[in-house]
Amino acid sequence: MPSVYNWQLGRRMRYPFEPASPKEQFAFVININRCLGCQTCTMACKSTWTFAKGQEHMWWTNVETKPYGGYPQHWDVKILDMLEQANPGAQHWSGSPNGDPKKPYGTFLGKGVFEVPEFVARNGQPNQVLGYLPPDEEWRFPNIYEDVPQKGQSKPMDFGQGEQLTGGRKHKAWFFYLARLCNHCSYPACLAACPRNAIYKRPEDGIVLIDQKECRGYRKCVEACPYKKALYRGTTRTSEKCIACYPRVEGIDPETKGMPMETRCMAACIGQVRMQGLVKVDKDNTWIEDRHNPLYYLVHVAKVALPLYPQFGTEPNGYYIPPRWVPLSYLEQMFGPGVEQAIERYRAPDRELLAVLQLVRRSNQIIARYKIEHGPKVYETQVNGKKFEMYNDTVIAYNRADKEIFRTDVEEPVYVRPAKHANTI
Ligand code: SF4
Ligand code: SF4
Ligand code: SF4
Repeated sequence: MPSVYNWQLGRRMRYPFEPASPKEQFAFVININRCLGCQTCTMACKSTWTFAKGQEHMWWTNVETKPYGGYPQHWDVKILDMLEQANPGAQHWSGSPNGDPKKPYGTFLGKGVFEVPEFVARNGQPNQVLGYLPPDEEWRFPNIYEDVPQKGQSKPMDFGQGEQLTGGRKHKAWFFYLARLCNHCSYPACLAACPRNAIYKRPEDGIVLIDQKECRGYRKCVEACPYKKALYRGTTRTSEKCIACYPRVEGIDPETKGMPMETRCMAACIGQVRMQGLVKVDKDNTWIEDRHNPLYYLVHVAKVALPLYPQFGTEPNGYYIPPRWVPLSYLEQMFGPGVEQAIERYRAPDRELLAVLQLVRRSNQIIARYKIEHGPKVYETQVNGKKFEMYNDTVIAYNRADKEIFRTDVEEPVYVRPAKHANTI
C-alpha cells in the first residue's frame, strides 16, 4: 500500500491511494471559547442544503455539548476505543510542540484508522479502514445531552479530583460546545473506503464530494469516516455529506462579485467564532508558508488553532481554539499535544494575535491576507503573573484580488444609547 506524509502526525502513514494534493485546501478555524451553542450554523446549513424529504435526520453540521453529547451518539469515544483495542497501550505522541511546520505537534507513535488492517480484517470487515456503522438509534437525537456538564451525570467521567485545569482554576463542572462539519480531510477515510470511487477530492480547493450518480448507498463512507460526517439518505439510497458550500467558495454568489465567499455555516455564526478560507499546500500536503493568511497565522505561527483528533490520521482541515476551562487530559486527547501552549497564547494574546482575532466574521468574503497598522497602547494588566499590553491597532483584510474588504480596530467603539430610547426596543 502507498504511503503518504501526514504533517499532523509528524510522519508518513499508509493510505490506499498515491500521494496527491490540491492547489489550495479548504480549511476553517472555530474558536470554542466564544461559541454560544446557539445552533444558528446548524440551521443555516439545514435550511440551505438538507430541508428535503429523507433528510430530516441529516445534519451535515451540528453543535454538540462535550463531553457527553455526540451526533451520532458517542462517535468519538467509539473510534478512540476501537483504536485502543487495535493497538493497546500504544496510542501516544512523542516529542513536543515545536516550530517545525512539517511536524508541529511532535510525532504520533500510535496507529490511525488506515494503519490497523489486520485488526479490521480480524473483525470480518472487507475494507481496510477502521470504522463502524452507527445503528439508527444513535442518529436519533442530534443534540442529546445539550448543556449537561461533566460531574452533572450519574456516572461522571473521572479526570482525577482537582486535576489542574487549563485556565489555572479548578472547576468541578464543565462542558463546552463543539461545532462540527466535514473536515474535507487531506486523506479522507470516506474516499478511501468507497468501493465505487464515487467520492473525490477536488484538485482546485480540496473539497471532498460524493458523486450522487455514482453512489449506490453501500454506506462504506458512513462506516469509515471517523468523524461520522458522511450520512445516509433513505429516500434516495445514497450517501450525502457537507459540500463545503462550493458555489460560494467558487465565488458564484452575486454578493461577492466573483470573489471566494465563506460557507453558509461560517457566515451565519452570530457568536462570531468561525473563519473559513483557503490555504496553499505543497505536494506532501504540508502548508506552504503564507505568513499573512489568517488561517496560516492561527495554525502555524500563533499555534492557537489545533486539528480535531489528529491521531485518527485523515489530516482534517478543521481547526479549533481549545476552551480554557476544561481538563488538559481531555483536551489533549481531542486536539493533540499542542493544547497547553495554545491556551496559554490565547489567554494572553500578543499584539498580532489580538489583531488577527478581530478579523473573524466582519465580512462574508474569504480573507486572502491581512495587514496591521499600529495604534496607541490603551490598556495594561497582569495575566498569569506576566505583563499584558493592549494596543488599539487596525487590522485590514484583503480578498483574492488584493482589494481591501474591510478594516477594523482592536478596541471596539462605544455607542451610548440616548436617554430617549430608554426601555424601548
Ligand atoms: S470528515 Fe469524514 S466525510 Fe469529511 S472528508 Fe474527512 S473522512 Fe470524509
Ligand atoms: S460548509 Fe455548507 S454544506 Fe458544509 S456544513 Fe457548512 S453550510 Fe453545510
Ligand atoms: S452559530 Fe457560531 S456561536 Fe452559534 S453554535 Fe454555531 S459556531 Fe457556535
